[in-house]
Amino acid sequence: MARKKAKKKATRKHSRKRKERIKAKKVTASNIQKEKVKRELKISAIDEGTVIDHIPTDATFKVVEILNLENEKGVVSIATNLQSKRIGKKGIVKVGGKNLTQDEVNKIAIVAPDATVNIIKNYEVKEKIKVKTPDVIENVVKCSNPVCVTNHEQVPTKFYVSKKEPLKIKCHYCERNMGKEDIEII
Ligand SMILES: [Zn+2]
Repeated sequence: MARKKAKKKATRKHSRKRKERIKAKKVTASNIQKEKVKRELKISAIDEGTVIDHIPTDATFKVVEILNLENEKGVVSIATNLQSKRIGKKGIVKVGGKNLTQDEVNKIAIVAPDATVNIIKNYEVKEKIKVKTPDVIENVVKCSNPVCVTNHEQVPTKFYVSKKEPLKIKCHYCERNMGKEDIEII
């Protein structure tokens, strides 16, 4: 009799334990699900990589082109026409698992002089770099002068920045002056 009771008790204990376990599992699964949804909705969140913020709306896809993101293997998010207190409308480009080279940062500065480059580690901003328009732009912009030597020979283009805002540049070879609207990235 006593043994039977003990057995019953054990069974009860066991089933309670199992219930608890199932409950615990459920909670964990739904938490993960919630986290996942949160993360998916917040397209912004990347664990490691680079976020380029404060891109003028019309330069968003130029940045995409400069960074050759069409061929990027990591997660790429592109947002444009977002409201910005600072620059009216802006674009944001996020690239998971990518660190920009100085060369890439310099190129971005040409089309997006107010951009901020954020280095992300573990979902947090580790470093903020304010881009800076260089004084000399080499091998980034195509000369708009059809007879310029750079359009006929294998000569890397070179421009001097005569004005930063709005951008005005002058070709080293043919001395053509170019404005923001003439700029075509190589
Ligand atoms: Zn030229």
